[in-house]
Amino acid sequence: MNASGEIDDGSKALAELLSFQSLLSLESLAQRAQALTLRRFGRTISLYVPLYLSNFCSSGCAYCGFAADRKTPRKRLTFEETQNELSALKQMGFDEVLLLTGERTPQADCDYLASCVKLAAKVFHRVTIEAFPMSVEEYKALVQAGCTGVTLYQETYDRAQYDQLHRWGPKKDYDARLEAPERALEAGMRTVGLGVLLGLSDPVAEALALFRHVRQLERKFWRAGFSLSFPRIRPQAGGFQPLFEVDDRLLARLIFAFRICLPDVELVLSTRERASFRDGMAGLGITKMSIASRTTVGGYQAGAAMEGSGQFEVSDERSVEEFCRALRSRRYEPVFKNWDAVYREVEAQKVEVCPCD
Ligand code: SF4
Repeated sequence: MNASGEIDDGSKALAELLSFQSLLSLESLAQRAQALTLRRFGRTISLYVPLYLSNFCSSGCAYCGFAADRKTPRKRLTFEETQNELSALKQMGFDEVLLLTGERTPQADCDYLASCVKLAAKVFHRVTIEAFPMSVEEYKALVQAGCTGVTLYQETYDRAQYDQLHRWGPKKDYDARLEAPERALEAGMRTVGLGVLLGLSDPVAEALALFRHVRQLERKFWRAGFSLSFPRIRPQAGGFQPLFEVDDRLLARLIFAFRICLPDVELVLSTRERASFRDGMAGLGITKMSIASRTTVGGYQAGAAMEGSGQFEVSDERSVEEFCRALRSRRYEPVFKNWDAVYREVEAQKVEVCPCD
């Protein structure tokens, strides 16, 4: 609490670091961010890979290539195809997989997702999902299937903009989405990933809202792990153009400022960003990255035909080997396994035995 009796959640410090009048140069922010990252995470970068299970969707987000009114061919992986994709990813060296779907549809509902999580949990030590907001009971079912984390970006915290950009469908419900991470943690998920899609609204205001969201969750779920992502809009079917410019310097300032204000939180940078930018940001705040990503449904197994275009265009198209070589040349160690399935089973049993814990 500060002298005026307000609870200081650290957002004032973040606002100062992000201010264009800030006396701190980008270079001095980078040095502070690098020192804090080194102290907390060492010279490591955790790796994960996304697997799109389905591109059916019941919503109409203006910025997305999978929106229900796009002419993209629709596909949902069968369980056999899912199994084959998971095996291909395992052979590429991954031990953490993020399973994705669009907004809830009869083709890809919670039961389908739970079955895919079960399949993935047999092969991968860490299985997380990026799908649609669910109830506590639904999240519990996923925990018991072997899921340990949920990623759910609010996209924009600007309510008016949110209403305009989410043209129809269940995703139009701002509050149902905003409150879902809390339900996931109540259900026993270990980690939650939050983020905003940079370019939809004023990026500094978005950053402050994102910061307040994670601080509020941290206060209630102090044992949980949190990660934050900073995706910028990429070309996609529909041709949506960013409404606000976020250049490399601003994105770097956002990442450094979050690292300084939240030293323990995992900061993620995906293959949306080009290789040179990702290489430069590794260890300067960023601690987790995807690589070799496909944004089509499946397509990892050799010879698998990729139907239609992806949710958005990937920018860093390097292979796992190329990326790991680049990290090692800068003395960073790529980490494929950061969690053991044994812990996951203990967490799932806890949910079964004591749902209120
Ligand atoms: S962002 Fe998600 S919910 Fe929105 S249209 Fe794309 S897949 Fe559907």
